[in-house]
Amino acid sequence: MQSFIPKELQGLREQGLFRKPHLLAPSETPGYVIYNGRRLLDLCSNDYLGLSHSPELAQACCAAARKYGAGAGASRLMSGNRALHQSLEQEISSLKNSEAALLLGSGYLANVGIIPALCARHDAIFSDRLNHASIMDGILLSRATLFRYGHNDLEHLESMLQEHRRDFRRALVISESLFSMDGDMADVERLAEIKKRYDAMLLIDDAHATGVFGEHGEGAVSRDLTPEVDVTVGTFGKALGSYGAFAAVSREMKEYLVNRCRTFIFSTALPPSVTAASLAAVKSISEDPSRGKYLLELSGRLRQQLLERAGIRTDSVSQIIPIIAGSNSRALELQNLLMDAGFFTKAVRPPTVPRGTARVRLSLTANQSIEQLMPLVELCAEFMNSGNS
Ligand SMILES: *Cc1c(COP(=O)(O)O)cnc(C)c1O
Repeated sequence: MQSFIPKELQGLREQGLFRKPHLLAPSETPGYVIYNGRRLLDLCSNDYLGLSHSPELAQACCAAARKYGAGAGASRLMSGNRALHQSLEQEISSLKNSEAALLLGSGYLANVGIIPALCARHDAIFSDRLNHASIMDGILLSRATLFRYGHNDLEHLESMLQEHRRDFRRALVISESLFSMDGDMADVERLAEIKKRYDAMLLIDDAHATGVFGEHGEGAVSRDLTPEVDVTVGTFGKALGSYGAFAAVSREMKEYLVNRCRTFIFSTALPPSVTAASLAAVKSISEDPSRGKYLLELSGRLRQQLLERAGIRTDSVSQIIPIIAGSNSRALELQNLLMDAGFFTKAVRPPTVPRGTARVRLSLTANQSIEQLMPLVELCAEFMNSGNS
């Protein structure tokens, strides 16, 4: 028997790091979930625009399943390539203003496949310290040398490039656009300018901004900027309410990835139903970007209330608003306080966030209102005061 497993589990419990999924049911009321028979306002969802329950997406999904079956049956390079995949790639390239787009199984698979396709042993990767786990895993798989720069500290990035760039064959700079745990933004324009000066490539992970930010819901990498970014990764699983991911790239980069990205080559194509839902979602946001605008307005109002009434200041500029509690136990305490009051939230702890910055991460969705959130502001104010005493 493996004795390390119970030991590890016990260790996690003692450090307040043990995790398990809660069993939730969807609520009839948008923006809510049912947990243990109670209706709670869902502040953990990345379904930022509420699209996952939209009738258009569900209909597109069902129609495609009836017509084309449940699965694609093979990878795209074998017999799994369908017109739906190509139409979705076309829609993405017009949404993003990229020459081309490539679908991948998920955002995780995109990062884990694309990064090792671009860099290998003799190369260097410069990565923001707070980049998502899937980026970290892609870097490890690539076997390139990793340089981590301070979060959004582009001077630090430049000094590292200055010192080390010439020792390596290729260089790749990687950043999220909208950071998933702090809700703050990277300066993509400046990153694009830096990467050019140091003859590096740039990969931007736009997972949380896609569908929410931008004039047309194109994300935090503007249409003008997209051609300057070698690879922009976005996911269909968050604001687009479906599943899967894309890379917005040049035509040449697409051909390269089709031939070199192992999570594209060796993985089954996205199911027709899921692809059709994503297609409906992209159409929906490009026709009506007002939901994203409303969500950002709502988020601004909540941040202001948290500051004025609870003294909570964050770096957030988005629908993701962290309430930093510090220790794991304090974060769990806040989670439970909010849960009891009708808000479904979850404590986010290391290794998802740096040690000592355990938090409750609020993610708002466009089917919620400031009135629904005001009781939460009062609870956060009480919680912050209780920590000072
Ligand atoms: C969620 C997320 C991913 C993974 O995307 P999935 O489609 O859910 O696999 C990748 N990068 C970032 C920054 C994310 O937040």
